[in-house]
Amino acid sequence: MAKDTPYQVLVRDLPTHRKLEVPPERVGEWLKGMPMRDALGAPEVDPQAGHGVADLDLYADGAHVFASGTFRGELTVACSRCVNPVMLKIDEKLRVTFMPRHELPDDDAQDGTDDVEDDEDAEVSEEDLDVFPFDGERVDLEPLLREQFVLAVPYAPLCAETCKGLCPQCGIDRNTASCTCEPPIDPRLAALKGLKIPS
Ligand SMILES: [Zn+2]
Ligand SMILES: [Zn+2]
Repeated sequence: MAKDTPYQVLVRDLPTHRKLEVPPERVGEWLKGMPMRDALGAPEVDPQAGHGVADLDLYADGAHVFASGTFRGELTVACSRCVNPVMLKIDEKLRVTFMPRHELPDDDAQDGTDDVEDDEDAEVSEEDLDVFPFDGERVDLEPLLREQFVLAVPYAPLCAETCKGLCPQCGIDRNTASCTCEPPIDPRLAALKGLKIPS
């Protein structure tokens, strides 16, 4: 928690309204290592990475902090067929509770390992979405904002439903060019050709 970011709000400042901007360099940094981002081969600081704005009302109730509002933005990822950039729009309503870590239902608590650092790679379930831990003094909104970008990426992003993808042999973009490569014969199909179907 020592890291200082513009996305932290002190509990003693609540209730408050915050408009938080996420610039492209932040988006690039947060999504580093995501295959659909890395596939673009974009530079380290990518002005086209995307951006976002969170408009949040924050208030405290006892030991809990609530945030509600909206998140709007854009994110550029690679098309899963042709690797060209695809711009995804983000327009989400946010309603989140921040709870002291010890109050969080922790189903990994039994294994005794410290899994705090693993959270970033953990699969996010629907229930986890609405609750984030905080230390009781300051709320860190960065994980919440970062998650909006991560969740915006579909399993297989497409530049268009009709994207023809890349030729598997020569790698040409079949949306903009054509080649004369013959499709390889699937060895399983080749084997089937020799089969006689009993009548
Ligand atoms: Zn495509
Ligand atoms: Zn080809």
